[in-house]
Amino acid sequence: MTDNLTDLPGVGPSTAEKLIEGGYIDFMKIATATIGELVDIEGISEKAAAKMIMGARDLCDLGFKSGVDLLNQRKSVWRLSTGSSELDDVLAGGLESQSITEFAGLFGCGKTQVAHQACVNLQSRENIFADEEHISEEEIENAKAVYIDTEGTFRPERIIQMAEAMGIDGNKVLDNTFVARAYNSDMQMLFAEKVEELIKDGENIKLVIVDSLTSTFRNEYTGRGKLSERQQKLGRHMSVLNKLADLHNCIVMITNQVSAKPDAFFGIQEQAIGGNIVGHAATFRFFLRKGKGDKRVAKLYDSPHLPDAEAIFRITEKGIHD
Ligand code: ADP
Ligand code: MG
Repeated sequence: MTDNLTDLPGVGPSTAEKLIEGGYIDFMKIATATIGELVDIEGISEKAAAKMIMGARDLCDLGFKSGVDLLNQRKSVWRLSTGSSELDDVLAGGLESQSITEFAGLFGCGKTQVAHQACVNLQSRENIFADEEHISEEEIENAKAVYIDTEGTFRPERIIQMAEAMGIDGNKVLDNTFVARAYNSDMQMLFAEKVEELIKDGENIKLVIVDSLTSTFRNEYTGRGKLSERQQKLGRHMSVLNKLADLHNCIVMITNQVSAKPDAFFGIQEQAIGGNIVGHAATFRFFLRKGKGDKRVAKLYDSPHLPDAEAIFRITEKGIHD
């Protein structure tokens, strides 16, 4: 079902057509757009854009919400086990919907493994924790994942191996995981935008993974001169991901590379790529590092309501576990 865009103030049939062509297919897309985005469409002035956005916000019931409403929205938050009970504890119960969780770390520290395990666990009811009063059992049981793979490291064989170790059907996991290989940042951004369409088409997408968030941007936008353009695009990408999390009660997981940052007191420190743009958009931020043998250490260093903490887990052929 599509919204009738001509219900918006100042929008006639021809403007509606242009909006739809530009991807603004419903009220919510327009309500959450910026004026700058809408004036990119031919024939839409700043004033008209502002009017449309305000009109769409009214129709979508976007605006001030009371604390009670927010608390109710929070009640529909559901959680997905990472496979490690220590890591779940640090997250107060697992990966959280309506949020973006970031795993950053050096090559080989296990970011892609954590992402694969999440796809597998999504198909195992006992790894999902939800309040049935606020989210339907059907939604949880038939949940699907989207895996945007920018580094070419998604491995169906690994999914099957992890699934079999848990006694679940690997093919069911693969059937319920849409994988999109993004070779550049434009494809990556487009795939994220397409998730909305999948949902509109009736696919029950509840987990969205971008592995990794920054590698394409980093390759394409080199040098200081390109930095602001890169950050702008990254910001738009993050806002698409944020909306998916918020409006569709999805878990969003992103992985990130790190770079070395010289620090006056501690020598060289590692930091996640993407600066403030990623920092402000991600809700939970982890650093992953290798421990002894198959052990890994995940450190939560940024979260709106949880204390900083560390978890130790293992990566073996079975997947992520204690
Ligand atoms: P990142 O994405 O952070 O670069 P990965 O998630 O790809 O790193 O982690 C790779 C590591 O995961 C390997 O070095 C290995 O330690 C472990 N690993 C990957 N596959 C398996 C497997 N089938 N069995 C055991 N360990 C594995
Ligand atoms: Mg990886």
